[in-house]
Amino acid sequence: MRRPCKYLYDDSGHMELTKLERMDTMGRLAVRELYKQMQSQIILELQDDEIPCTECKGMRFIYIEKDGKSHFEYCRRCYTGKLYVCRHCGEKNKTNYCNCKESREERSVKYRMQVTQKEIEAFKTAKKIHYKDYDGKFILKDSDYVKDLDDVAEWIKDLLREGEEPPEYLWATEKEPCFSINLYDIIYDKCEDGYEYMYERLNTSSPLLKQAQKLITQWEEEQGDSLCVYHETSKAVIIKDLVEEIRKEIQSEQSI
Ligand SMILES: [Zn+2]
Ligand SMILES: [Zn+2]
Repeated sequence: MRRPCKYLYDDSGHMELTKLERMDTMGRLAVRELYKQMQSQIILELQDDEIPCTECKGMRFIYIEKDGKSHFEYCRRCYTGKLYVCRHCGEKNKTNYCNCKESREERSVKYRMQVTQKEIEAFKTAKKIHYKDYDGKFILKDSDYVKDLDDVAEWIKDLLREGEEPPEYLWATEKEPCFSINLYDIIYDKCEDGYEYMYERLNTSSPLLKQAQKLITQWEEEQGDSLCVYHETSKAVIIKDLVEEIRKEIQSEQSI
C-alpha cells in the first residue's frame, strides 16, 4: 500500500522523497530515458518535404508524466511519425494535404489536367457521330437538365458572343428509367418486417392489386423522359460544323 505521506524533509529543510516514491520516480526516469533513447534510434524514410514529427520524433506515441502518474498515448501532432512541410506556405501538416490557397490551386490545376488528359484519351478511341445523325439529348456543364440540339445551339451562340470557344464535340447520352414501381416487390419487402409467412397469407392475386399495378405502370409511361436519368456514353457527337455555322451567323449579324 502506498503511504499517504510522500515527502520527508532533511535537516537542511530540503524536500526528500520517500523510498517508495524514489523507486516510482526512478522507474519513471528509466522509462523517460528509454523513451528518449528509442526516439534517438528511430530512422525514418523521409522524402524532401517530410520531417520527423516535432512532438514524437517519429515514435507515433508519446510518454506523458502528469500528477505523479505516467502513461503512453498516441501522438496527436502526427499520423505516421512524420510531418509534411508545405512547399508553398511552410505549414507542417499531418498529411501532404495542405489547405493553403497555393496548394488548393495546385491540386485543382492537377485535377483539371488529369480530367483533360482522360477526356483526350477517351475522345481518341470514341465512336464519332455527326450531330445531324444524333437525335438524343446532351449534358451541358453547369446545367442540371439534359438539353436538346436547339438548346445546344443557343449555348454555343452564348459562348461565342462571350468570346469563349465551344468544344468540337459533346458526349452522346443514353437514358435509363430512374425507378419503376412494382407493387408486388414492395408488398413482399414490407412483409419481411412482419410475421412469418405473411406474404403467403396475403391475397396477392387480387384483381385490385393487378389493376393498381396497371395504373402505376401507365402513370410511369406518361411521365416519359422526366422519369429517366441520363448518362454520358463513350460516343462523341461532333458539333464542329454546328459551331462554324453559328459563328458565321453571328459574323453576318455583326456585319449588318
Ligand atoms: Zn508525432
Ligand atoms: Zn500550404
